[in-house]
This record gives sequence, structure tokens and C-alpha cells, in this order.
Amino acid sequence: MGTFTYTQSAVYSLFMLVRETVIAYLLFKLTKLEQGGHVQRKIACLWKEPRAPEGYETAVSLHGHTNCSKESLHFIADFADKFGLLRWFLSLKERKAMRDSSIRFDFDRAYWTPPLTPNAAYELEFDQINEKLALNGIVSLTDHDNIQAALSLRVHQDEAAVPISIEWSVPYGGDELHIGLHNLPAGDAPAIVARMNEYTGDPREYILREILAELNARPDVLIVLNHPLWDIAGAGSDLHCEAVNSFMGKLGQHIHAFELGGLRSWEENRAVYDLAAEWNVAVIGGGDRHGCEPSACLNLTHAASFPEFISEVRTHKRTNVLFMPQYARPLWERMLQVVLDATAHQPHNPAGAHWDARTFHPDPKGNLRPLSELWRRRLRSSK
Ligand SMILES: [Zn+2]
Ligand SMILES: [Zn+2]
Repeated sequence: MGTFTYTQSAVYSLFMLVRETVIAYLLFKLTKLEQGGHVQRKIACLWKEPRAPEGYETAVSLHGHTNCSKESLHFIADFADKFGLLRWFLSLKERKAMRDSSIRFDFDRAYWTPPLTPNAAYELEFDQINEKLALNGIVSLTDHDNIQAALSLRVHQDEAAVPISIEWSVPYGGDELHIGLHNLPAGDAPAIVARMNEYTGDPREYILREILAELNARPDVLIVLNHPLWDIAGAGSDLHCEAVNSFMGKLGQHIHAFELGGLRSWEENRAVYDLAAEWNVAVIGGGDRHGCEPSACLNLTHAASFPEFISEVRTHKRTNVLFMPQYARPLWERMLQVVLDATAHQPHNPAGAHWDARTFHPDPKGNLRPLSELWRRRLRSSK
């Protein structure tokens, strides 16, 4: 007899039906809010409008992470604080660390790396577009503060198909903003990233202004304010809104779009949609994929290439955001899946099969090492 789970029950199916309908209705209302003016934007939900991709040639996946990203454990801890089940799951892992190694998690310095290699992440996004939408795919991966994924993919793939992109963590106004920079010029990209890191290490506003102005002057580069209303650094929502408003007031002329996020709640996305209208910038879909679920928020376009798509967004402020069916699932359930993906046994992952080989923590001297090494060392020394 097969196993029967909660997610296969009639109650869950009914819950999902109601949830999908409500989200689709609320997002659909957005499309009625504004058509015209200087910004042309359309929002569609594939589960309610299965024919939405018809007439388009290409779908674009923006903003996904690979094992080249160093992810703060706060990413998980923040969600765990909101969702009791995740908090419980994390506390199990914390207790195991204490039991096996007497190490108490240092959430500020420790980091984990997402499970997918650049190649696996690229294929996951590409396959979703090909198989679910039957469209050509453009995939722009954006790791935190480095471009290693694109550089390694370009060794074996057509360079034109692999844009060099990055998610820059920008200290600003006592807070942190994330800026998605897509399609950096290949020859200059390492120098641009070095300059970005120079600002991050010593944030002086004129450097930030220079970098953004220089990138904005290149017509093939797309500059997106990612998840603008997510207080990712925990500065407090008032200070965060102040930082966003101050940033847009001073440097907003260099921002081409705000991001609607595939891993952000619809309430937050709705507020971002309104905020984008206030600042007269386009809205764009971004996945912020950290686990093995492909992006829940894509972009439909008639463009045949990434620069063409970027021109549509920059010049015409024309975007068509498509939410994929996974977006209708409860956010806590999807976040839990990210944690499960990150901690799953992966025999073929070159970074390490076990999650503790892919999670780094300061050793007693303060050097960052895989947890697996710290635990082995501890076990050896206790023999
Ligand atoms: Zn981010
Ligand atoms: Zn991200």
C-alpha cells in the first residue's frame, strides 16, 4: 500500500485551490490598476492563465543563486522566526551541533552555500522555461558579490548565452540594499566587481554613485533593486523604508526596475508594485532561487537576446511578469523546502555530499572551515 501524505489529502487540495484563486485574483487586480503612462507592465499567473506565454518567444529567469554564493545563516533564521516549524527544524540542527562538537552557531559569521552548482542551476532554469512554457530561455544567475558562476559556465558554453551578473549587497544609510546587476561587460567585469567590493568594505557614497552611473551609461546593463521592501539586514522597517527612499531620491535615476520576487509574499510584492509606480520604474520578475525549486517568477518577452530584453525594460519600461504555479504554494512550505534542499545528501555535489561540508563556521581561531572538519577534529581530539 502506498504512503498517503497531508499534501495528497482532499483538505490540502481544497486549501490550495482557494489559495491559488485568491492569489491569482489579487495579482490580476494589479494588471487593472495601471495600463499606460510611461510604464507598461503586465502580471500573469500561469495556473490561472495557462495561455499567458502564447505569442511570446522567450522567457527570462533573473536572480538565482548557486553554490558560489555565501549565504548568511540569518536568511534561514529570519524565516525560522516567522514560521514555527522551521524554527523547530533549525533548533534540531543547533542541538546536533552542540551535541557533536560543543559548537554554538555563530549566526553572524557562519554561512552556507546553496546546493546547486552553476551548471545545475542554469539547466534547472533553462529546462523549466523549455518544458513548462515551450519558449526560448535566457538565464541570468546572480550570486552574492561574485561572478564565479558565469565565469565557470563560460568556459564550456556559448558566452552570449551566459550573461555575467551579480547580486551586490550594498551598505546604505545604516542598512543593506541588494542590487541586481545583469549583463556586465565581460572584459571589465572583474574590475567592476573589485570596485564594488571596495565600496562594500568602505562605503563612501561618491564611489557608489560613480559605479552606478558608469554602469547605467552602458545600454546593455540592467540595474534592478532586488526585493526593495525586504528588511534583509534587520534594520527595522522604518529605517529600511527611509534607506530605500533616500537611495531612490539620490541614485534612483540609475535604477531600471524594482523586483517582484518569487520567494517574497504576495503582500510584499503588491507593495513593491505600488512603490515602483511612485518612482516611475518598471517592475520585473526575479526568482531569488536558493534551493532546487526553479524560479517562481519569470519574465515574458519578444526579445531574441538578453540585450534586446534589457532594451525593452530600459527604453520602453515594458515588462510582462509571469508567476509560476509554485508561487501559489504557502511560502513557509517553500522556505522549508529550501532548508531541506540545502541540507539534503548530495552525492554528486563537488562541494561535498553532506550539508555540513557545505556549511562554514569559524574554528576556535576564527578561521572559517566546513562544519564537517570542525566536527571531525572535535571527535578526534576527544578520543
Ligand atoms: Zn537579495
Ligand atoms: Zn538573492
